[in-house]
Amino acid sequence: MEKVFNLTPAEIFEHAFKLVQEMDIQIIAGYASSSEGSEDDIIALANWNNIDDSVSNQLEELEINLEWSDEWRICDACNRAIRTNPDSYHFKPQYWFHPDGAYICEACTVEDPDDYLEYLQSNPHACLTMSINLKDYGYRNLNANSCETGFHPGQNDDPRTIYNELTEAGFENFIFVLDEQSQFYQKWSVWLHENEDA
Ligand SMILES: [Zn+2]
Repeated sequence: MEKVFNLTPAEIFEHAFKLVQEMDIQIIAGYASSSEGSEDDIIALANWNNIDDSVSNQLEELEINLEWSDEWRICDACNRAIRTNPDSYHFKPQYWFHPDGAYICEACTVEDPDDYLEYLQSNPHACLTMSINLKDYGYRNLNANSCETGFHPGQNDDPRTIYNELTEAGFENFIFVLDEQSQFYQKWSVWLHENEDA
């Protein structure tokens, strides 16, 4: 197999782009998350069941990572690849879906988290899953120990109950945080903004 180490990522991107023209394949420059790969990786997204082997082989010869299009999305802010389908029991989404209809990766969210925090605020159906330290934004963890929801006895905390209690007490600015994702349970906590701290 011919090696392609002498090509720059930009040249590989160009090659790949020409190769897949008019095919249902997307070529993406870089993974959004360093836990998935580097910014220099080139990724091809497709339903590979529908793509001829000769094409996927050529892409692999260019050292392009082939990923399944139903497991990945493209960040609408930085155009890098985001894994949206869990690949383990511990998977925490490193992206969010903006109400305007955009997928935003963790790196882009961390840079400017205002919309994300506003979306999470007093929302019992969503929780923070990304590396944002709420302390930096004036929130305080109300839980000495994480709440637990799961299959084990006693793991029956319900965010909706906490939500009802807090809103009935007049609180409006709190955020649910996913502390741990496991096969059989989720641990989570509630953070309250200091403006509402009694
Ligand atoms: Zn991004």
